[in-house]
Amino acid sequence: MPKQYAMLGGEPVLRRTLRAFVEHPRIDRVTVVIHPDDRGLYENAAADFKILPPVSGGATRRVSVLNGLSALEDDPPGRVLIHDAARPLVSPDIILRSLDALDRCAGAVAAVPVHDTLKQSDEAGSIRRTVPRTGLWRAQTPQAFHYDEILKAHRATNDDTLTDDAAVAERAGLTVALVEGAEENLKVTTEQDLARAEMLLRTAPSGTIRIGSGYDVHRFSANGDHVTLCGIAIPHEKGLAGHSDADVGLHALVDALLGAIAAGDIGTHFPPSDQRWAGADSRIFVEHARDLVAEAGGMIENVDVTLICERPRVGPHRQAMCTMISELLAIPANRVSVKATTTEGLGFSGRREGIAAQAIASVRIPA
Ligand code: MG
Repeated sequence: MPKQYAMLGGEPVLRRTLRAFVEHPRIDRVTVVIHPDDRGLYENAAADFKILPPVSGGATRRVSVLNGLSALEDDPPGRVLIHDAARPLVSPDIILRSLDALDRCAGAVAAVPVHDTLKQSDEAGSIRRTVPRTGLWRAQTPQAFHYDEILKAHRATNDDTLTDDAAVAERAGLTVALVEGAEENLKVTTEQDLARAEMLLRTAPSGTIRIGSGYDVHRFSANGDHVTLCGIAIPHEKGLAGHSDADVGLHALVDALLGAIAAGDIGTHFPPSDQRWAGADSRIFVEHARDLVAEAGGMIENVDVTLICERPRVGPHRQAMCTMISELLAIPANRVSVKATTTEGLGFSGRREGIAAQAIASVRIPA
């Protein structure tokens, strides 16, 4: 069985690789290049991931990558990462570094410096010479490029001795930067690699979990015909008053995310005194908080929002709210919870003067 479908820590190698990208806040779309014979293995490994349909590979690695790139041509991305399916332990920060390097370079390759002394052998297996290792690196993936440039570079060559996409880019005259990879980002090609990856998984410190909480209230306004809760517009006899769209659910969520990384509160980042945020769609606040979590090296584990009101009824909209938040945060829907409660007619929410919301977010900071 191809190694990308071998089981690692209870699931296929490819599934772990996919998760690293699908769950990364800076990744919009993922497609996998597969051998048509492996369709069943692929379906199993990619089950439930929201990704593009797989693309059939070619006779060589180069052709397979070209097929994958070409499949994106109708709706071309600005940047693309090309990654070995058999490198399941790629970390979020390597993905981030590779993407960020494209701000200053045409391409970027994760790599680790060579520490061993290198020998070149003769036919008899004796040392012919010692190769200076200064400035030598082992190239890994992801390899990151501006989409249109790497597609053009691939189409300009049919040289199958080019063993990675950086070599294709170099051939096209593009400058490719090296960014810090990791020894853990190994390529699983042999049984020993699989055993080593398994060992790394079992012994890797899982990092620390940070928790943040958020709370927000908005009063009903005198008029209006809907309220916006967790990004969903719900018809109602009154609107909510506020500087932005008054989405209490998302405001509490933003504060929870910011709280988890100790990055202030929503007012710090989006002051009500700033006219830019008048009537703003609160989803942009959530996206900003999500990006701050990623910049802090964090991965959002789960979020839980509770809406507190007598009316409108939240139940019929819960699923849409969960889907909205899951898409905003780029995390699977089963890590998003939206709940609702009343206060049995007590207090301001009971008197239907306004809506309150509270939220909790947990963020994993990898070791
Ligand atoms: Mg608010």
